[in-house]
Amino acid sequence: MIALMFGPPGSGKGTQASRVAVRLGISHVAAGDMLRDEVAHDTPLGHEAKPIMNAGGLVPDDLVVRMIESRLNEPDATQGVLLDGFPRTVPQAIALDAMLAARKDRVAWVVALEVPDEELKTRILKRATTEGRSDDTAEGLAQRLIVYRQDTAPVLEHYRAEGTRIVAINGVGDIDAITGRIMESLSHDGAAVKTA
Ligand code: ADP
Repeated sequence: MIALMFGPPGSGKGTQASRVAVRLGISHVAAGDMLRDEVAHDTPLGHEAKPIMNAGGLVPDDLVVRMIESRLNEPDATQGVLLDGFPRTVPQAIALDAMLAARKDRVAWVVALEVPDEELKTRILKRATTEGRSDDTAEGLAQRLIVYRQDTAPVLEHYRAEGTRIVAINGVGDIDAITGRIMESLSHDGAAVKTA
């Protein structure tokens, strides 16, 4: 099963994706974490991605698609994967759909976390003081929100048009409560998930 955790920067999709993946017994694959890892190891991909990420832009589609494709070919991915931060553009979504179609699969469902912009700002500026991520600045966030609206929000419309199950979740509140909302909606919705 391949599913997506979707939401604006600062919506908590990384936190929720990792919790939901554990509960479903599938792998959590976070594009941003993988890219930060490439940067930390100063690989050719990391070298190219670093300045783009710091400016709040998007790493070129072909690079990210290749990175995710090889990750989806790793053995654990056959158990199922919850993708977080990918696809982030419609061309990435089309590439993912083609990859899955080649193995007679498709995106099973999408969880879309909804958080107002003001709350996103507060969270990201707070995270800046705790995690020290180099793109967590007021300017970086402003740029990431612009990119989110322009390039990433249409990904949700792409899957809506495909008839993929989309579960909208209020992403404001207690972390445990939000995980609970997600798990409950997935089971109510009749999504093919078995909760651990
Ligand atoms: P956030 O959702 O808070 O912006 P992420 O860790 O998901 O954090 O992403 C951090 C940065 O990594 C993005 O701003 C972007 O530069 C890069 N990135 C992550 N995923 C992708 C992707 N699928 N395509 C292009 N760039 C990506």
